[in-house]
Amino acid sequence: MKLVMKFGGTSVGTGKNIRHVADLVAQYSTEGNRVAVVVSAMAGVTNHLIEVACQAKKSDEKHIEVFARELRQKHLEAISTAISDKSVQKEASEIIEKTISELEKVLIGISYVGELTPKSKDYVASFGERLSAPIVWGAIRDQKAETQFFTGKEAGIVTDSNFGEAEPLMNFTTHLIRERVGPLFEKGIIPVVTGFIAANQDGVTTTVGRGGSDYTATILGSALGADEVWIWTDVEGIMTADPKIVPSAKMLPELSYQEAAEMAIFGAKAMHPRALEPVIEARIPVRIRSTMHPKNPGTLITEMEKTKSSSAVKAVALIQNVAMVNVSGAGMVGAPGSYARIFDTLGRNGINIMMISTAASEANMSLIVKRNLLGRALSTLEIALLGKGVVSEITSAEDVAVVAVMGANMKGTRGIASKIFATVATAGINIIMIAQGSSELNISFVVKEKDGAAVVKAIHKEFRLDKI
Ligand code: ADP
Ligand code: ASP
Ligand code: MG
Repeated sequence: MKLVMKFGGTSVGTGKNIRHVADLVAQYSTEGNRVAVVVSAMAGVTNHLIEVACQAKKSDEKHIEVFARELRQKHLEAISTAISDKSVQKEASEIIEKTISELEKVLIGISYVGELTPKSKDYVASFGERLSAPIVWGAIRDQKAETQFFTGKEAGIVTDSNFGEAEPLMNFTTHLIRERVGPLFEKGIIPVVTGFIAANQDGVTTTVGRGGSDYTATILGSALGADEVWIWTDVEGIMTADPKIVPSAKMLPELSYQEAAEMAIFGAKAMHPRALEPVIEARIPVRIRSTMHPKNPGTLITEMEKTKSSSAVKAVALIQNVAMVNVSGAGMVGAPGSYARIFDTLGRNGINIMMISTAASEANMSLIVKRNLLGRALSTLEIALLGKGVVSEITSAEDVAVVAVMGANMKGTRGIASKIFATVATAGINIIMIAQGSSELNISFVVKEKDGAAVVKAIHKEFRLDKI
Protein backbone atom coordinates (compact mmCIF):
# COMPACT_ATOMS: atom_id res chain seq x y z
CA MET A 1 0.00 0.00 0.00
CA LYS A 2 0.99 3.61 -0.48
CA LEU A 3 0.64 5.27 2.91
CA VAL A 4 1.05 8.80 4.18
CA MET A 5 1.50 8.79 7.96
CA LYS A 6 1.23 11.89 10.06
CA PHE A 7 2.50 11.93 13.64
CA GLY A 8 1.08 14.58 16.00
CA GLY A 9 2.78 16.56 18.75
CA THR A 10 2.45 14.00 21.54
CA SER A 11 3.54 11.18 19.24
CA VAL A 12 6.85 13.02 18.73
CA GLY A 13 6.79 14.65 22.19
CA THR A 14 9.90 12.93 23.57
CA GLY A 15 12.98 11.14 22.23
CA LYS A 16 11.48 7.85 23.36
CA ASN A 17 8.26 8.52 21.47
CA ILE A 18 10.21 9.51 18.35
CA ARG A 19 12.06 6.21 18.50
CA HIS A 20 8.74 4.43 18.68
CA VAL A 21 7.49 6.42 15.67
CA ALA A 22 10.60 5.46 13.70
CA ASP A 23 10.02 1.78 14.64
CA LEU A 24 6.45 1.99 13.34
CA VAL A 25 7.50 3.68 10.11
CA ALA A 26 10.31 1.21 9.49
CA GLN A 27 8.00 -1.72 10.25
CA TYR A 28 5.32 -0.64 7.76
CA SER A 29 7.93 0.24 5.19
CA THR A 30 9.62 -3.18 5.37
CA GLU A 31 6.24 -4.89 5.15
CA GLY A 32 6.16 -3.85 1.49
CA ASN A 33 4.35 -0.54 1.85
CA ARG A 34 5.57 2.75 0.51
CA VAL A 35 5.49 5.24 3.36
CA ALA A 36 5.69 9.04 3.45
CA VAL A 37 5.87 10.73 6.85
CA VAL A 38 4.52 14.09 8.01
CA VAL A 39 5.68 15.40 11.36
CA SER A 40 4.22 17.94 13.83
CA ALA A 41 6.26 20.00 16.24
CA MET A 42 7.06 18.36 19.60
CA ALA A 43 4.03 18.81 21.92
CA GLY A 44 3.73 22.35 23.26
CA VAL A 45 6.50 23.83 21.11
CA THR A 46 4.28 25.74 18.65
CA ASN A 47 2.34 27.35 21.52
CA HIS A 48 5.58 28.28 23.18
CA LEU A 49 7.04 29.77 20.00
CA ILE A 50 3.96 31.91 19.45
CA GLU A 51 4.00 33.10 23.07
CA VAL A 52 7.66 34.04 22.84
CA ALA A 53 7.13 35.80 19.51
CA CYS A 54 4.33 37.86 21.07
CA GLN A 55 6.55 38.70 24.05
CA ALA A 56 9.57 39.42 21.84
CA LYS A 57 7.88 42.68 20.89
CA LYS A 58 8.50 43.84 24.43
CA SER A 59 11.28 41.65 25.75
CA ASP A 60 15.04 41.73 25.82
CA GLU A 61 17.77 39.55 24.38
CA LYS A 62 18.31 37.78 27.69
CA HIS A 63 14.78 36.41 27.65
CA ILE A 64 15.19 35.15 24.09
CA GLU A 65 18.53 33.56 24.96
CA VAL A 66 16.96 31.58 27.83
CA PHE A 67 14.13 30.36 25.61
CA ALA A 68 16.53 29.32 22.85
CA ARG A 69 18.70 27.47 25.35
CA GLU A 70 15.75 25.47 26.69
CA LEU A 71 14.51 24.69 23.20
CA ARG A 72 17.96 23.55 22.11
CA GLN A 73 18.27 21.34 25.18
CA LYS A 74 14.84 19.75 24.62
CA HIS A 75 15.64 18.82 21.03
CA LEU A 76 19.22 17.69 21.68
CA GLU A 77 17.96 15.49 24.52
CA ALA A 78 15.41 13.98 22.16
CA ILE A 79 18.18 13.26 19.65
CA SER A 80 20.26 11.44 22.23
CA THR A 81 17.35 9.08 23.02
CA ALA A 82 15.84 8.75 19.55
CA ILE A 83 19.02 8.16 17.55
CA SER A 84 21.85 5.78 18.45
CA ASP A 85 24.18 6.08 15.46
CA LYS A 86 26.76 8.72 16.44
CA SER A 87 27.21 10.16 12.97
CA VAL A 88 23.44 10.50 12.44
CA GLN A 89 23.18 12.07 15.92
CA LYS A 90 25.83 14.58 14.91
CA GLU A 91 24.12 15.44 11.65
CA ALA A 92 20.73 15.95 13.33
CA SER A 93 22.32 18.01 16.14
CA GLU A 94 23.98 20.29 13.61
CA ILE A 95 20.62 20.97 11.95
CA ILE A 96 19.10 21.78 15.37
CA GLU A 97 21.95 24.15 16.27
CA LYS A 98 21.75 25.94 12.95
CA THR A 99 17.95 26.21 13.05
CA ILE A 100 17.90 27.53 16.62
CA SER A 101 20.50 30.19 15.93
CA GLU A 102 18.35 31.32 12.99
CA LEU A 103 15.33 31.45 15.33
CA GLU A 104 17.27 33.50 17.86
CA LYS A 105 18.14 36.06 15.21
CA VAL A 106 14.52 36.27 14.08
CA LEU A 107 13.28 36.82 17.65
CA ILE A 108 15.92 39.47 18.31
CA GLY A 109 14.87 41.14 15.06
CA ILE A 110 11.25 41.21 16.24
CA SER A 111 12.28 42.65 19.60
CA TYR A 112 14.21 45.46 17.85
CA VAL A 113 11.41 46.29 15.43
CA GLY A 114 8.85 46.01 18.24
CA GLU A 115 6.26 44.60 15.87
CA LEU A 116 4.94 41.12 15.15
CA THR A 117 3.20 40.86 11.78
CA PRO A 118 1.18 37.78 10.73
CA LYS A 119 4.05 37.06 8.33
CA SER A 120 6.75 37.07 11.00
CA LYS A 121 4.48 35.14 13.38
CA ASP A 122 4.19 32.35 10.79
CA TYR A 123 7.93 32.40 10.33
CA VAL A 124 8.49 31.92 14.06
CA ALA A 125 5.74 29.27 14.33
CA SER A 126 7.40 27.27 11.54
CA PHE A 127 10.40 26.47 13.72
CA GLY A 128 8.58 23.78 15.73
CA GLU A 129 8.28 21.43 12.76
CA ARG A 130 11.66 22.49 11.41
CA LEU A 131 13.17 21.21 14.66
CA SER A 132 11.15 18.02 15.16
CA ALA A 133 11.24 16.62 11.62
CA PRO A 134 15.05 16.29 11.40
CA ILE A 135 14.98 14.18 14.58
CA VAL A 136 12.32 11.86 13.17
CA TRP A 137 14.32 11.69 9.95
CA GLY A 138 17.46 10.77 11.93
CA ALA A 139 15.59 8.14 13.95
CA ILE A 140 14.30 6.53 10.73
CA ARG A 141 17.83 6.51 9.31
CA ASP A 142 18.91 4.87 12.51
CA GLN A 143 16.59 1.99 11.56
CA LYS A 144 18.68 1.57 8.41
CA ALA A 145 15.82 2.77 6.22
CA GLU A 146 16.46 5.11 3.31
CA THR A 147 14.86 8.47 3.98
CA GLN A 148 14.99 12.09 2.88
CA PHE A 149 14.02 15.23 4.76
CA PHE A 150 11.89 18.05 3.29
CA THR A 151 10.35 21.22 4.67
CA GLY A 152 6.80 21.79 3.42
CA LYS A 153 8.23 24.40 1.09
CA GLU A 154 10.89 22.04 -0.27
CA ALA A 155 8.25 19.36 -0.77
CA GLY A 156 6.35 21.80 -2.98
CA ILE A 157 3.42 22.97 -0.84
CA VAL A 158 2.56 26.40 -2.21
CA THR A 159 -0.15 28.52 -0.60
CA ASP A 160 -1.75 31.94 -0.91
CA SER A 161 -0.44 34.69 1.38
CA ASN A 162 -3.15 34.49 4.05
CA PHE A 163 -0.58 34.13 6.83
CA GLY A 164 -1.78 32.07 9.76
CA GLU A 165 -4.48 30.27 7.74
CA ALA A 166 -2.91 29.97 4.31
CA GLU A 167 -4.68 27.97 1.67
CA PRO A 168 -2.76 25.59 -0.60
CA LEU A 169 -2.88 26.24 -4.33
CA MET A 170 -3.68 22.62 -5.06
CA ASN A 171 -2.91 22.33 -8.78
CA PHE A 172 0.49 23.88 -8.47
CA THR A 173 1.21 22.03 -5.22
CA THR A 174 0.22 18.65 -6.66
CA HIS A 175 2.49 19.22 -9.63
CA LEU A 176 5.47 20.17 -7.47
CA ILE A 177 4.99 17.35 -4.93
CA ARG A 178 4.84 14.80 -7.74
CA GLU A 179 7.99 16.23 -9.21
CA ARG A 180 9.99 16.61 -6.00
CA VAL A 181 8.75 13.88 -3.65
CA GLY A 182 7.06 11.45 -6.04
CA PRO A 183 10.11 9.79 -7.62
CA LEU A 184 11.84 8.89 -4.38
CA PHE A 185 8.56 7.79 -2.76
CA GLU A 186 8.03 5.42 -5.69
CA LYS A 187 11.54 4.04 -5.17
CA GLY A 188 10.75 3.17 -1.56
CA ILE A 189 12.75 6.01 0.00
CA ILE A 190 10.81 7.47 2.95
CA PRO A 191 10.16 11.21 2.62
CA VAL A 192 9.89 13.00 5.97
CA VAL A 193 8.03 16.29 5.56
CA THR A 194 7.43 19.04 8.11
CA GLY A 195 3.70 19.43 8.69
CA PHE A 196 1.90 22.77 9.07
CA ILE A 197 4.36 24.92 7.12
CA ALA A 198 4.49 25.86 3.49
CA ALA A 199 5.46 28.87 1.39
CA ASN A 200 3.64 31.37 -0.78
CA GLN A 201 4.52 31.85 -4.43
CA ASP A 202 7.33 34.23 -3.47
CA GLY A 203 8.84 31.56 -1.25
CA VAL A 204 7.85 33.32 2.00
CA THR A 205 7.02 30.91 4.84
CA THR A 206 3.30 30.46 5.56
CA THR A 207 1.34 28.13 7.86
CA VAL A 208 -1.91 26.39 7.02
CA GLY A 209 -3.56 27.02 10.42
CA ARG A 210 -3.17 25.52 13.88
CA GLY A 211 -3.28 21.74 13.85
CA GLY A 212 -2.33 22.00 10.18
CA SER A 213 -0.06 18.97 9.97
CA ASP A 214 -3.19 16.88 9.33
CA TYR A 215 -3.81 19.09 6.30
CA THR A 216 -0.21 18.66 5.10
CA ALA A 217 -0.70 14.89 5.31
CA THR A 218 -3.85 14.84 3.18
CA ILE A 219 -2.33 17.28 0.65
CA LEU A 220 0.62 14.93 0.33
CA GLY A 221 -1.66 11.88 0.25
CA SER A 222 -3.71 13.29 -2.58
CA ALA A 223 -0.66 14.41 -4.60
CA LEU A 224 1.14 11.09 -4.17
CA GLY A 225 -1.98 9.03 -4.90
CA ALA A 226 -1.85 7.33 -1.48
CA ASP A 227 -4.14 4.38 -0.75
CA GLU A 228 -4.71 5.69 2.78
CA VAL A 229 -3.67 8.59 5.00
CA TRP A 230 -3.06 7.66 8.62
CA ILE A 231 -3.22 10.31 11.31
CA TRP A 232 -1.40 8.88 14.32
CA THR A 233 -2.34 10.68 17.52
CA ASP A 234 -2.72 10.39 21.29
CA VAL A 235 -6.29 8.98 21.32
CA GLU A 236 -7.74 5.72 19.98
CA GLY A 237 -9.51 7.46 17.12
CA ILE A 238 -12.37 9.92 16.76
CA MET A 239 -14.56 9.53 19.79
CA THR A 240 -18.09 10.39 20.83
CA ALA A 241 -16.66 13.36 22.76
CA ASP A 242 -13.27 14.70 23.76
CA PRO A 243 -12.12 12.06 26.28
CA LYS A 244 -10.47 14.85 28.28
CA ILE A 245 -14.00 16.17 28.99
CA VAL A 246 -15.97 12.90 28.98
CA PRO A 247 -13.76 10.02 30.16
CA SER A 248 -16.42 7.45 29.17
CA ALA A 249 -16.36 8.59 25.51
CA LYS A 250 -16.31 5.73 22.98
CA MET A 251 -14.24 5.35 19.84
CA LEU A 252 -16.21 5.54 16.56
CA PRO A 253 -14.87 2.80 14.24
CA GLU A 254 -16.27 4.28 11.02
CA LEU A 255 -17.33 7.71 9.84
CA SER A 256 -18.30 9.15 6.47
CA TYR A 257 -16.24 12.03 5.06
CA GLN A 258 -19.22 14.28 5.62
CA GLU A 259 -19.60 13.33 9.26
CA ALA A 260 -15.89 13.54 9.94
CA ALA A 261 -15.65 16.92 8.21
CA GLU A 262 -18.55 18.16 10.29
CA MET A 263 -16.78 16.91 13.39
CA ALA A 264 -13.45 18.37 12.33
CA ILE A 265 -14.98 21.75 11.65
CA PHE A 266 -16.80 21.67 14.92
CA GLY A 267 -14.75 19.08 16.80
CA ALA A 268 -12.07 21.58 17.65
CA LYS A 269 -8.90 19.62 17.99
CA ALA A 270 -9.28 16.05 16.79
CA MET A 271 -8.53 16.98 13.16
CA HIS A 272 -7.74 20.14 11.19
CA PRO A 273 -11.06 21.41 9.79
CA ARG A 274 -9.94 21.43 6.17
CA ALA A 275 -7.88 18.28 6.28
CA LEU A 276 -10.45 16.16 4.47
CA GLU A 277 -10.78 18.46 1.45
CA PRO A 278 -7.82 17.10 -0.53
CA VAL A 279 -8.78 13.45 -0.05
CA ILE A 280 -12.55 13.57 -0.59
CA GLU A 281 -12.35 14.04 -4.34
CA ALA A 282 -9.69 11.36 -4.70
CA ARG A 283 -11.69 9.09 -2.34
CA ILE A 284 -8.65 8.32 -0.23
CA PRO A 285 -9.64 6.84 3.13
CA VAL A 286 -8.25 8.47 6.27
CA ARG A 287 -7.57 6.56 9.45
CA ILE A 288 -7.17 8.19 12.86
CA ARG A 289 -5.24 5.87 15.16
CA SER A 290 -3.28 5.74 18.36
CA THR A 291 0.52 5.78 18.34
CA MET A 292 0.54 4.13 21.75
CA HIS A 293 -1.85 1.33 20.70
CA PRO A 294 -0.78 0.70 17.12
CA LYS A 295 -2.59 -2.64 16.93
CA ASN A 296 -5.98 -0.90 17.23
CA PRO A 297 -7.46 -0.07 13.83
CA GLY A 298 -8.77 3.34 14.97
CA THR A 299 -11.42 5.34 13.12
CA LEU A 300 -11.75 4.79 9.38
CA ILE A 301 -13.11 7.75 7.44
CA THR A 302 -14.44 6.80 4.01
CA GLU A 303 -17.03 7.65 1.48
CA MET A 304 -19.68 5.31 2.91
CA GLU A 305 -23.14 6.33 1.87
CA LYS A 306 -25.24 5.50 4.86
CA THR A 307 -23.77 5.01 8.27
CA LYS A 308 -24.36 1.58 9.73
CA SER A 309 -24.91 2.93 13.21
CA SER A 310 -28.55 3.39 14.11
CA SER A 311 -27.89 6.22 16.53
CA ALA A 312 -28.97 9.60 15.29
CA VAL A 313 -26.47 11.46 17.44
CA LYS A 314 -22.90 10.21 17.26
CA ALA A 315 -20.77 12.81 18.93
CA VAL A 316 -20.76 16.05 20.86
CA ALA A 317 -17.97 18.57 20.71
CA LEU A 318 -16.94 21.68 22.57
CA ILE A 319 -15.29 24.46 20.59
CA GLN A 320 -13.39 26.90 22.71
CA ASN A 321 -11.32 29.92 21.75
CA VAL A 322 -14.22 31.46 19.89
CA ALA A 323 -15.96 34.81 20.23
CA MET A 324 -19.39 36.13 19.32
CA VAL A 325 -20.04 39.29 17.33
CA ASN A 326 -23.51 40.86 17.26
CA VAL A 327 -24.37 43.27 14.49
CA SER A 328 -27.65 45.10 14.85
CA GLY A 329 -29.60 48.02 13.52
CA ALA A 330 -33.19 48.81 12.60
CA GLY A 331 -31.86 49.82 9.18
CA MET A 332 -31.01 46.18 8.42
CA VAL A 333 -34.71 45.28 8.29
CA GLY A 334 -35.80 44.71 4.71
CA ALA A 335 -32.55 46.16 3.38
CA PRO A 336 -31.28 43.89 0.61
CA GLY A 337 -27.54 43.28 0.79
CA SER A 338 -27.03 44.19 4.44
CA TYR A 339 -26.02 40.64 5.39
CA ALA A 340 -23.87 40.43 2.28
CA ARG A 341 -21.89 43.46 3.38
CA ILE A 342 -21.11 41.83 6.71
CA PHE A 343 -19.88 38.64 5.02
CA ASP A 344 -18.00 40.52 2.37
CA THR A 345 -16.19 42.71 4.89
CA LEU A 346 -15.11 39.74 6.97
CA GLY A 347 -14.24 37.61 3.95
CA ARG A 348 -12.05 40.28 2.40
CA ASN A 349 -10.15 40.54 5.67
CA GLY A 350 -9.50 36.82 5.87
CA ILE A 351 -11.88 36.23 8.79
CA ASN A 352 -13.73 32.95 8.62
CA ILE A 353 -17.27 32.86 10.03
CA MET A 354 -17.80 29.63 11.96
CA MET A 355 -21.48 30.01 12.74
CA ILE A 356 -24.30 32.44 11.97
CA SER A 357 -27.70 33.08 13.41
CA THR A 358 -30.21 35.74 12.50
CA ALA A 359 -33.55 36.71 13.87
CA ALA A 360 -36.62 36.73 11.60
CA SER A 361 -36.94 40.42 12.48
CA GLU A 362 -33.76 40.90 10.41
CA ALA A 363 -32.60 43.53 12.89
CA ASN A 364 -29.78 41.46 14.28
CA MET A 365 -27.12 39.00 13.19
CA SER A 366 -24.86 37.01 15.51
CA LEU A 367 -21.63 35.49 14.25
CA ILE A 368 -19.02 33.22 15.76
CA VAL A 369 -15.38 33.73 14.82
CA LYS A 370 -12.08 32.49 16.21
CA ARG A 371 -11.22 34.45 19.33
CA ASN A 372 -7.82 35.56 18.08
CA LEU A 373 -9.56 37.22 15.11
CA LEU A 374 -12.13 39.12 17.17
CA GLY A 375 -10.19 42.39 17.28
CA ARG A 376 -9.73 42.36 13.52
CA ALA A 377 -13.36 41.39 12.94
CA LEU A 378 -14.67 44.24 15.09
CA SER A 379 -12.44 46.92 13.66
CA THR A 380 -13.13 45.98 10.03
CA LEU A 381 -16.88 45.76 10.65
CA GLU A 382 -16.93 49.08 12.47
CA ILE A 383 -15.07 50.83 9.67
CA ALA A 384 -17.24 49.28 6.95
CA LEU A 385 -20.67 49.46 8.55
CA LEU A 386 -21.08 52.00 11.33
CA GLY A 387 -22.45 55.45 10.61
CA LYS A 388 -23.86 54.46 7.22
CA GLY A 389 -27.48 54.28 8.28
CA VAL A 390 -27.88 50.50 8.31
CA VAL A 391 -25.98 49.11 11.27
CA SER A 392 -26.23 51.03 14.51
CA GLU A 393 -24.45 48.78 16.98
CA ILE A 394 -21.69 46.16 16.97
CA THR A 395 -21.04 44.31 20.23
CA SER A 396 -19.08 41.21 21.16
CA ALA A 397 -18.58 38.57 23.84
CA GLU A 398 -15.44 36.54 24.40
CA ASP A 399 -16.48 34.27 27.27
CA VAL A 400 -18.47 31.91 25.04
CA ALA A 401 -18.05 28.39 23.64
CA VAL A 402 -19.85 26.46 20.93
CA VAL A 403 -21.35 23.04 21.59
CA ALA A 404 -21.96 20.97 18.46
CA VAL A 405 -24.04 17.81 18.41
CA MET A 406 -23.39 15.66 15.34
CA GLY A 407 -24.40 12.54 13.44
CA ALA A 408 -25.37 11.68 9.85
CA ASN A 409 -28.58 9.97 10.94
CA MET A 410 -29.80 13.15 12.61
CA LYS A 411 -31.02 14.14 9.16
CA GLY A 412 -34.78 13.78 9.14
CA THR A 413 -34.97 12.39 12.68
CA ARG A 414 -37.54 14.29 14.66
CA GLY A 415 -37.17 15.40 18.24
CA ILE A 416 -33.39 15.63 18.42
CA ALA A 417 -33.34 19.39 18.90
CA SER A 418 -35.99 19.33 21.59
CA LYS A 419 -34.13 16.60 23.46
CA ILE A 420 -30.86 18.56 23.25
CA PHE A 421 -32.39 21.80 24.46
CA ALA A 422 -34.38 20.09 27.21
CA THR A 423 -31.13 18.52 28.45
CA VAL A 424 -29.40 21.90 28.52
CA ALA A 425 -32.36 23.47 30.30
CA THR A 426 -32.45 20.68 32.90
CA ALA A 427 -28.76 21.36 33.56
CA GLY A 428 -29.83 24.94 34.34
CA ILE A 429 -27.74 26.43 31.54
CA ASN A 430 -28.72 29.30 29.30
CA ILE A 431 -28.35 29.08 25.51
CA ILE A 432 -27.11 32.28 23.88
CA MET A 433 -27.36 31.43 20.16
CA ILE A 434 -28.49 28.47 18.04
CA ALA A 435 -27.80 27.26 14.49
CA GLN A 436 -28.65 24.17 12.51
CA GLY A 437 -27.16 23.81 9.07
CA SER A 438 -29.54 22.61 6.37
CA SER A 439 -27.31 19.53 6.06
CA GLU A 440 -29.00 18.55 9.35
CA LEU A 441 -25.78 16.77 10.28
CA ASN A 442 -25.22 19.01 13.23
CA ILE A 443 -26.95 21.29 15.65
CA SER A 444 -24.71 23.84 17.29
CA PHE A 445 -25.36 26.38 19.97
CA VAL A 446 -23.47 28.87 22.06
CA VAL A 447 -23.25 28.89 25.85
CA LYS A 448 -21.08 30.69 28.38
CA GLU A 449 -17.60 29.23 28.27
CA LYS A 450 -17.72 28.19 31.92
CA ASP A 451 -20.79 26.01 31.18
CA GLY A 452 -19.36 24.29 28.09
CA ALA A 453 -17.93 21.13 29.66
CA ALA A 454 -21.06 20.54 31.77
CA VAL A 455 -23.28 20.78 28.67
CA VAL A 456 -21.11 18.32 26.75
CA LYS A 457 -21.23 15.85 29.63
CA ALA A 458 -25.01 16.19 30.02
CA ILE A 459 -25.68 15.62 26.30
CA HIS A 460 -23.27 12.68 26.12
CA LYS A 461 -25.17 11.12 29.00
CA GLU A 462 -28.66 11.90 27.73
CA PHE A 463 -28.00 10.36 24.31
CA ARG A 464 -26.20 7.40 25.95
CA LEU A 465 -23.17 7.90 23.71
CA ASP A 466 -21.05 5.76 26.03
CA LYS A 467 -23.24 2.80 24.90
CA ILE A 468 -23.03 3.59 21.18
P1 ADP B 1 -2.14 15.77 17.59
O1 ADP B 1 -1.10 16.53 18.34
O2 ADP B 1 -1.84 14.32 17.46
O3 ADP B 1 -2.50 16.41 16.28
P2 ADP B 1 -4.45 16.95 18.79
O4 ADP B 1 -4.19 17.42 20.19
O5 ADP B 1 -4.46 17.95 17.71
O6 ADP B 1 -3.41 15.79 18.49
O7 ADP B 1 -5.81 16.14 18.69
C1 ADP B 1 -6.02 15.05 19.55
C2 ADP B 1 -6.79 15.52 20.75
O8 ADP B 1 -8.09 15.93 20.30
C3 ADP B 1 -7.08 14.44 21.76
O9 ADP B 1 -6.06 14.34 22.73
C4 ADP B 1 -8.42 14.88 22.38
O10 ADP B 1 -8.25 15.48 23.63
C5 ADP B 1 -8.94 15.95 21.41
N1 ADP B 1 -10.30 15.68 20.96
C6 ADP B 1 -11.32 16.57 20.94
N2 ADP B 1 -12.44 16.02 20.51
C7 ADP B 1 -12.17 14.74 20.22
C8 ADP B 1 -12.94 13.64 19.73
N3 ADP B 1 -14.23 13.76 19.44
N4 ADP B 1 -12.32 12.47 19.53
C9 ADP B 1 -11.01 12.33 19.79
N5 ADP B 1 -10.23 13.31 20.27
C10 ADP B 1 -10.79 14.52 20.51
N1 ASP C 1 2.45 22.31 15.31
C1 ASP C 1 1.26 22.89 14.73
C2 ASP C 1 0.29 23.29 15.82
O1 ASP C 1 0.54 23.06 16.98
C3 ASP C 1 0.62 22.00 13.72
C4 ASP C 1 0.15 20.65 14.22
O2 ASP C 1 0.53 20.21 15.31
O3 ASP C 1 -0.59 20.01 13.49
O4 ASP C 1 -0.71 23.87 15.52
MG1 MG D 1 -3.70 18.10 15.78
